[in-house]
Amino acid sequence: MKAFRFVAWGRPPEFAEVPIPEPGPGQVLVKVTAAGVCHSDLHIFDWPAGMLPWKLPFTLGHEVVGKVEALGPGVKAPEIGTAVAVYGPWGCGTCRACRMGMENYCERSAEMPGAGVGLGFDGGMAEYVLVPSPRLLIPIGDMDPIQAAPMTDAALTPYHAIKAGLPLLVPGSTAVVIGVGGLGHMAVQILDAISPATVIAVDKDQRKLDLAKRVGAAQMVPAGEKAADAIRKFVGPVGANAVFDFVGSDETIALAAKVVRPAGRVFVVGIAGGSFAFSFFSIPYEAAISSTYWGSSVELQEVLALAAGGKVKAAVETFALDDVATAYSRLRAGDIEGRAVILPASSKVPVGAGFEKARAN
Ligand code: NAD
Ligand code: ZN
Ligand code: ZN
Repeated sequence: MKAFRFVAWGRPPEFAEVPIPEPGPGQVLVKVTAAGVCHSDLHIFDWPAGMLPWKLPFTLGHEVVGKVEALGPGVKAPEIGTAVAVYGPWGCGTCRACRMGMENYCERSAEMPGAGVGLGFDGGMAEYVLVPSPRLLIPIGDMDPIQAAPMTDAALTPYHAIKAGLPLLVPGSTAVVIGVGGLGHMAVQILDAISPATVIAVDKDQRKLDLAKRVGAAQMVPAGEKAADAIRKFVGPVGANAVFDFVGSDETIALAAKVVRPAGRVFVVGIAGGSFAFSFFSIPYEAAISSTYWGSSVELQEVLALAAGGKVKAAVETFALDDVATAYSRLRAGDIEGRAVILPASSKVPVGAGFEKARAN
């Protein structure tokens, strides 16, 4: 089958012909119906060798939805043909964090060969993906796979951060969302769906601010020198209860620290690699600043329930697998509204023969 692979650090990914994997004991083979394109992959393409201890090459694609194609020995469920979302962060499965469904914070992550599907392990930018265990699959019923794919990261990641911020997001509160891209446009909707906070969206691109407005943000603020003053006009002089930064540059973290209120919290979700000089006086009293990484499998179930109930909807543009490189370059150029989603089944390249279908045990 044709797969879009990350082959070497500092080198653009490329297509390769790889065998369709056969599920071994405990594993599940999934036929991919949709795979989202995340900005994190662009960071990975840019990072120098040694930044992450992953084994290369691997197939990209960490927002994956598909249908169960075959079960390895010992696997009884889910049934062949079941539509599933792949829970992306793959931990050891047995440590305390993993047992709580928080494989994103697996205690043995340093021993793992990768971080998850499409991140050190083969991902969904191919016709099939091999999933190490059925525990990493969540049935999605009849949900549109094009909608479900972005839920596994573009929505799950902000959902996790927003849930952590919920105690601060009381009636009358304000939340600032910086960067209204794939993650940010989901964040605006999740905040509206699960909190009473008024949402202020910030972006450097007017088209993204228009999207923010369409998905329910109350106020739109262009990024730049005047952004802090403009935000304060809406949140008041005390500052915002929570700030969700989906960029993570020096500039955006500084802006977040400037507009958060005392005892508020800044969530740095974007991994642009910016830094912030902490001192007693560089952030309001008792305000906290932290990163967050992806979300738990239980939170994925919750976010899929929000989507199923029509409470959050991804703005998507679809691409054939053959056009995946175009999707990445358009994302880099800031030219994707919401999320780009790859549909591997629409690839024109024929699938290799000889695969023993539906080898149930
Ligand atoms: P995206 O490209 O779809 O969206 C980024 C948005 O930020 C765009 O709308 C862009 O116009 C805007 N932006 C860029 N610079 C800005 C600035 N200085 N001020 C205001 N807005 C600005 O990207 P995405 O896929 O939504 O990912 C966002 C970030 O989150 C990336 O850094 C990605 O790697 C990261 N990410 C982190 C996690 C995690 O678990 N922490 C998970 C997924 C993605
Ligand atoms: Zn991602
Ligand atoms: Zn673990």
